[in-house]
Amino acid sequence: MTGTVKLMGVAGAPGIAVGPIWRFGATEPGLPATTSRQVPGQRPDDAIRAAAAETARQLDALAGRIRDLGREQEAAIFDAQSLMALDPTLVDDAVQRAGEAGDPADAVRAAAGAAAELLASLDDEILSARAADVRDVGARICRVLRGEVLHLPAVPSIAVSDDLPPSVTAEIPPGFLLGIALAGGSKTAHAVILARSLGIPAIVGISGLIAAVDARTSPSAPPVAMAMDGERGEVIVDPGTLEAAEFRQREADLALRRADAAGLRERPTATADGERVLLVANIGTPDDAPRALAVRAEGVGLFRTEFLFMSRQTAPTETEQAEAYCRVLEAFGPERPVVIRLADIGGDKAIPYLQLAPEQNPFLGVRAIRLAYANPDLLLTQLRAIWRAGAAANVVPHVMAPMVATIADVELLMSLRDQARESLVGNGLPAAERMVTGIMVEVPSAAFLAPELARRVDFFSIGTNDLTQYILAADRGNAALAAFQDALHPAVLRAIAGVVAGADAAGIPVAVCGELAGDPAGALILVGLGVDELSADAGSLDGVRAALARVTRPQLDALARSALDASDAETVREMAGALLAPAG
Ligand code: PEP
Ligand code: MG
Repeated sequence: MTGTVKLMGVAGAPGIAVGPIWRFGATEPGLPATTSRQVPGQRPDDAIRAAAAETARQLDALAGRIRDLGREQEAAIFDAQSLMALDPTLVDDAVQRAGEAGDPADAVRAAAGAAAELLASLDDEILSARAADVRDVGARICRVLRGEVLHLPAVPSIAVSDDLPPSVTAEIPPGFLLGIALAGGSKTAHAVILARSLGIPAIVGISGLIAAVDARTSPSAPPVAMAMDGERGEVIVDPGTLEAAEFRQREADLALRRADAAGLRERPTATADGERVLLVANIGTPDDAPRALAVRAEGVGLFRTEFLFMSRQTAPTETEQAEAYCRVLEAFGPERPVVIRLADIGGDKAIPYLQLAPEQNPFLGVRAIRLAYANPDLLLTQLRAIWRAGAAANVVPHVMAPMVATIADVELLMSLRDQARESLVGNGLPAAERMVTGIMVEVPSAAFLAPELARRVDFFSIGTNDLTQYILAADRGNAALAAFQDALHPAVLRAIAGVVAGADAAGIPVAVCGELAGDPAGALILVGLGVDELSADAGSLDGVRAALARVTRPQLDALARSALDASDAETVREMAGALLAPAG
């Protein structure tokens, strides 16, 4: 079959690419159906254990190479995979499945498939995204068993697959991967995280992709080409000359926009008429700090500390935590505040070793600060670690609690904070002099209570991701409700306006750290509504700066007024878009 076909998927990482397709895993991702090459006389269990050990060694080497390139976050993915390769549950299951005379590779494939299915069935987006990692590890062990060599792209190409395992992505030499287009995957898939850190586009969930590509592929013909726009989630398989030219034009425009935005980094973030907006970054681990500093984040508005508690068997100790917080505080120094959010555990972030009771509605359950009523130790340890980190880095730490819903929650937060300091001082241990203490406003009751809460805390940070799901009663993890999850809905904006008014009356600053803050249209509306500070992923900061630099305060005031009166999110987005559209 020939001819151009246009397909749509879910935008994963922004950018434009045009180039030949590198089709990975044509039979089944990473698991070609050939028979095992077994060393004569070797028993299946010995073969499996030797291949697992060799795979772990290869993954350690891969992690080392990537770490040497300064890409610590990706290196950690392979550290974790190396542990998976040696995981006795996986290896023993494969050995058992192989029995006396079974095919070792089939047994490994089945064991990895079962482990991945188990992870994928969990109601946890992060853990289910790890299912791809287990499959990847299984595929690697199979390749080692079969003595197979991975055929990487020979020219710079766009990878097309059902799913692209991270270790395959990482082995492609720099410059040879132009983009990633997947039929499966999710926005949190590692392939997408890697694409973002490499600055290449990624699109996931493209239905019809594999059929369209394979139908146009033949062993005797040159590889089929493709054009993709990672921001719009648009893919053109086998583009004609005109389409390819249009995508190249988009590529050139994007390069110009990025260069412009990067130029703005050297100046403080402000509107065209000089009103300053504090632009800070969201981070998940200390390793994210350099990326945020590289794009001139003026601090950290949200350090999601629960990531320190994930992918491990026990909670991090007080000292481990203190070291992690201190690293970030020192990286940003005394002039750039770092807001450490107390662990937001529960909801979609389950931590297996804490053995929390299963709940029917985890997002409405014993999540975040609520855990501390029955079990204060987790937060006390974390607060002690933060007091210690502040003393060690010689800065005043900023802390905020997630999911605050009542005045009692604030009282609990303050009392734990003070108890934590007293216990350190009582034991003669160093603690910071004070702690700037705020709360996330992400539950409707907190928005209604804004005036009362504002009198009790030092700052507010609005979590628009949760606030939107709670105001519109639409589970943020349910893809079928995606249309309800637009934080630009006037109902959410009216709540934000109320929160800003409550904060203004008490004279405390208001930040927004939900995804809306990193969306250029959202940033304009938020600043129009009176928000003082925007906190977003490092990759979004340039776009927000560029958007703010194009508008004036009176324009933003008018935009916010109209947005509050609009009937739906699309209308609000169009209004903000009109301000951002190039003149002429
Ligand atoms: C939010 O809810 O907007 C937020 C920033 O927190 P999280 O996404 O971690 O729940
Ligand atoms: Mg939240």
